[in-house]
Amino acid sequence: MHLEAMKIHVALGDWLAAQPGPVAGVFLTHLHPDHLTGLADVAAGTPVFAGPGEAGERALVNLFLQSNIDRALAGKGPLAAWPFAAEAGGAFEGVVDIFGDGSAWALWVPGHTGGSTAYLLRTSGGPVLLTGDACHTRWGWDHDVEPGSFSSDLPRSAGNLARLRRLAAEHPGLDVRLGHQR
Ligand SMILES: [Zn+2]
Repeated sequence: MHLEAMKIHVALGDWLAAQPGPVAGVFLTHLHPDHLTGLADVAAGTPVFAGPGEAGERALVNLFLQSNIDRALAGKGPLAAWPFAAEAGGAFEGVVDIFGDGSAWALWVPGHTGGSTAYLLRTSGGPVLLTGDACHTRWGWDHDVEPGSFSSDLPRSAGNLARLRRLAAEHPGLDVRLGHQR
């Protein structure tokens, strides 16, 4: 993962300090350390949400990185798993309408990790899709190629990337934010 090469453009603590209030909860896409480092700046006790089974993933990569993951989650509220339910249209393996008003959806897109979760958000700037590492590069998105390294189930990852790309194709106004790139 080359964490030593990761560049922090804005530390989460600095960004949070400019916000009108504290964070009420954290939605994680998955529990790889390069997606958790900001948690150190989130107040103790803040509830944290992720996909099912994510905390228990004991893939080889996590054996090496478990201490980073444990450190990131230390002091936070209990890690809650999204209670994914099958979605009637079959567009995704599971979805959760987080606030019950259609403003924020957790989409279950396992493959990179078993609990990988994308988020579909209605924002004041329009609809936004956060893919997490279901797709981490622009090239992968444009060429329909799922992440290779550090993924636990490549066929399932490919299938769920296809689901996300279908969603974006059906909604051309969707602002797609990839795991590692704009
Ligand atoms: Zn990852």
